[in-house]
Amino acid sequence: MYRFENIVGNDKIIKSLKNSSINDTVSHAYILDGKEKTGKQLISKTFAKLLLCENNKNEPCLKCSSCISFESGNNPDFFFIDGNKKKLGVSDIRENILKNIETKPFKYKYKVFIIKDAHNMTIQAQNAILKTIEEPPKFAIFLMLSKNHNSFLPTILSRCILFKIRPLSPNIIENFLISKNINENMAKFYAIYSRGSIGKALEIAYSEKFIAFRQDIINDVNKLDELDLIQLYNLIDKYDNIKENINEILDIYLLVYRDSLIFKQTNNFKNIIQKDITNCIQKISHMSIKNLTNKIDAILKTKLSLEQNANFNMTMECLFFKLKEK
Ligand SMILES: [Zn+2]
Repeated sequence: MYRFENIVGNDKIIKSLKNSSINDTVSHAYILDGKEKTGKQLISKTFAKLLLCENNKNEPCLKCSSCISFESGNNPDFFFIDGNKKKLGVSDIRENILKNIETKPFKYKYKVFIIKDAHNMTIQAQNAILKTIEEPPKFAIFLMLSKNHNSFLPTILSRCILFKIRPLSPNIIENFLISKNINENMAKFYAIYSRGSIGKALEIAYSEKFIAFRQDIINDVNKLDELDLIQLYNLIDKYDNIKENINEILDIYLLVYRDSLIFKQTNNFKNIIQKDITNCIQKISHMSIKNLTNKIDAILKTKLSLEQNANFNMTMECLFFKLKEK
């Protein structure tokens, strides 16, 4: 249910959006910019629902016909354009926006357009929408969601209010997950692993697929010492086949070595993030502090190299030789 009271974090942005609704100072165009799954859709949809609500100006009422139709995905004055994984061209803008902007709202005060992954708009598409943003009809509101606000034309940027959606602190996410009855021990892991993305934290916390995936990778870390050369290359092949997840895989390695290092230094499990795998952590913590630090270092460097498109197999080979060093 889209309500501001259900959104965790980004308080300042939410306050500013609410105030603009209460004071009737809503702008015609906004850009909500931030990493994947940091709440851009949730915030923008809640704002859209609020603007279309017939009763309230500070929080969608949930009772009016607009709120009800919004929740069921049938609000006639709400438009969601998904630019996910493709370029948004002029024809997309024309079909989904320009055509709809010619007529007044069907039923409510505004017509609200959310453009998801708006950074995927081509220059031509941006120019097509620019004229509307420059001289918008009174009823038109644009909420553009983006992962890279630098891909917008300066002329677009200058017409929009830009909000930067920040990742949340692990503590906020942890407490939120606990409030959703996620096991306390695991909540800490999900909070840190999700790197400030509440959407990702929620997704993995409820995903059996992720739990199995993580267990599989932890098993790999656990038996790394015992692998011979052929098995090691098999492991690299295995990861090569699921390379799109390599960041997640390396994050799991990182957290295992991190926890082992903390356990080594403190000799208790209090500050361990992954309290469900204490056996594995205890086993790995038999390595020297220097060795553990070197391994963490090597993983971080590998992540960086892969981000810069280094050759996958060679980079992973180097990493695993370092991880196997005693
Ligand atoms: Zn309402």
